[in-house]
Amino acid sequence: MFTTAIAGSLPKPAWLAETEKLWPQWTTQGPELQQAKADATLLWIKAQEDAGLDVIGDGEQARQHFVHGFVEQVEGIDFVNKVTMGIRNNRYDAQVPQVIAPLRLKGRVHAFEAQLARAHTKKKLKFTLPGPMTIVDTVADRFYGDKVKMAMAFAELLNQEALALQADGVDIIQFDEPAFNVYMDDAADWGVKALEVAARSLTCTTAVHICYGYGIEANNKWKETLGHEWRQYEKVFPALAKSSIQQVSLECMHSHVPMEMMKLLEGKDVMVGVIDVANPAIETPEEIADTIGRALQFVPKNRLIACTNCGLAPMSRAVAEAKLKALAEGAKLASQRYA
Ligand code: ZN
Repeated sequence: MFTTAIAGSLPKPAWLAETEKLWPQWTTQGPELQQAKADATLLWIKAQEDAGLDVIGDGEQARQHFVHGFVEQVEGIDFVNKVTMGIRNNRYDAQVPQVIAPLRLKGRVHAFEAQLARAHTKKKLKFTLPGPMTIVDTVADRFYGDKVKMAMAFAELLNQEALALQADGVDIIQFDEPAFNVYMDDAADWGVKALEVAARSLTCTTAVHICYGYGIEANNKWKETLGHEWRQYEKVFPALAKSSIQQVSLECMHSHVPMEMMKLLEGKDVMVGVIDVANPAIETPEEIADTIGRALQFVPKNRLIACTNCGLAPMSRAVAEAKLKALAEGAKLASQRYA
């Protein structure tokens, strides 16, 4: 009854890249790297299918980082001379590329891994792209001088790639917007509009993933400052409810997000995070089914998708594999309980 899906990223095997890192270096290069990316993509498709998940992704094995994987294929960006910039409202420093000229796609960005994934699974295929606002927060602007203008420029490029991914046979295109939980007023003001530009004319399912970030130390420390009730979603969900985006994610497992936030998403499919990405302990099926049960007070059964809180990229491969299985088992138990 309950559909299962992951947020997006999965750990990279050691023969592809450094392990348990958010910005890992590739282990190899050239044609060998391309082969390793393909092998890792196939491996994770199999692992998701074996776990019993309904919606399959490429695990983001072909990109170093969820934002920079897209930005690398954009003209007008200096990727050689990166600068240190505080991102997510200065929560942590990152080495970011600089926007130095008008933006244009060099060509297709994710054709290789999207077509590979499509050829190797008959299940629904979800593909993730960074959202415009989160991209703007992960590059240094030396050209536009205006966040909204730059976000709209990125949104046009995302739209081009999204339409091409749809033509590749992708069923769900998801935009990742962790920045929505940091700049809540901007998100409601122009972030959602930029997102709709990115999703313009898509006929496949559209989704947005909003989270409190990967389970890295900087994020865990930040969460400790947010108090006992996390109400960040409260500002952006009403704007998303009015938008054309069909699926919205939120963190639930071990988070301090009040469950009633889901009420603000009437008419949307809700990807409820039932897997914690900041803790290597594997959730039990009972724990997951309980969380789904609590979410059902606010989301109709047919609109609930059991999901991970965020990507699993910085975790160990063994933990991620166990969490995929737990997700499927927990959703199955919930289906029996709440049928
Ligand atoms: Zn996330």
